[in-house]
Amino acid sequence: MRLNIAVIPGDGIGPEIVREAKKVLDVTVEQFGHELIYTEVLMGGASIDACGVPLTDEAIETAKAKDAVLMGSIGGDAATSPWYQLPPHLRPEAGLLKLRKSLGLFANLRPAVLYGELKGACPLKEEIIGDGFDMMIMRELTGGLYFGERRTEEVDGLLTAVDTLTYNENEIRRIAKRAFDIAGKRRKKVCSVDKANVLDSSRLWRKIVEEVAKDYPDIMLEHMLVDNCAMQLVKNPGQFDVILTENMFGDILSDEASMVTGSIGMLSSASLNDTKFGLYEPSHGSAPDIAGKDLANPIATILSAAMMLRFTFDLDEEAAAIERAVQQVLTEGWRTADIMSEGCTQVGTRKMGDLIAEFIIKGVGL
Ligand code: NAD
Repeated sequence: MRLNIAVIPGDGIGPEIVREAKKVLDVTVEQFGHELIYTEVLMGGASIDACGVPLTDEAIETAKAKDAVLMGSIGGDAATSPWYQLPPHLRPEAGLLKLRKSLGLFANLRPAVLYGELKGACPLKEEIIGDGFDMMIMRELTGGLYFGERRTEEVDGLLTAVDTLTYNENEIRRIAKRAFDIAGKRRKKVCSVDKANVLDSSRLWRKIVEEVAKDYPDIMLEHMLVDNCAMQLVKNPGQFDVILTENMFGDILSDEASMVTGSIGMLSSASLNDTKFGLYEPSHGSAPDIAGKDLANPIATILSAAMMLRFTFDLDEEAAAIERAVQQVLTEGWRTADIMSEGCTQVGTRKMGDLIAEFIIKGVGL
């Protein structure tokens, strides 16, 4: 298969972690007999420096013409970087928002995985953690409260603010289908999270999710109220496979889920539209404090590349080979500084990428 990928190294540690993800992708496609074509695209601070704006229209067109986008991270230190002297629409983050909008990315996927080897980083008690956990938070990204009508006005002499939470059945149906499809590639369980005891939008959410579920008889569906879900994530995180939820609930729950894994450098993410196209990036930022020091953990970006193989290209075996190589590196005690613990061997960004690539070549990942 020929894979056409736009690559956005971005700012800070972005170029270092993307370099390692490309290294791992290169050996993976070689092992499996595919061909990769990368096209570099500027975004964020790097684009401001070169073109005066955080994302050009040409860059958007280039990205759209590819099968997927693999991204590092963008942005700098807001206190010291000249990028943050610019008006908000010209700052690095505006480029990412524009890209997400232009590509129609409505489904955000954030895996929260706790590897047995990294239990020490998890703030939960040993008896709650068990053998670790592996869940996928699927958040609707373009509807709901963050995109509804809003206003602040004086009503009867009192300042009054209104935000509206709107979903139509099509918006719910398309993300629900995605969630069931993804659960089919995992442990076949969807937990749909809402507030159906109070909100009309949640009652419609529940109705449509149930309709969609009828087309997926092999996937188990349960509904959970959002307040209960927030509790269950710290009480029994191992119960979850795919969590499907609307925009604001997903915003909050995905941060909670990622915090309980305890290691930001390990968390990948994907944003998908209604084709196979996706934007794949680590959940963390550009970490300007450690940029250029060979300290960044490249694993979140490497696992994002694995998600790209699985969700855009349906290359499940290839994705699994990368994931197993990451697992193997951890099992053998190799750690970057952010996940370092006693008895392990600390390595830099480049060496971590080399090790994962080596395990794939050796066939350990296969
Ligand atoms: P951050 O995620 O960049 O860093 C938070 C802390 O985690 C820092 O101490 C950093 O050193 C550490 N860290 C992050 N990633 C790491 C990795 N891979 N390996 C080891 N340590 C890692 O968050 P921040 O400092 O709040 O933001 C820095 C910049 O990143 C800002 O400009 C922000 O706007 C931007 N940002 C970009 C994205 C994105 O590109 N999608 C997301 C979040 C933040």
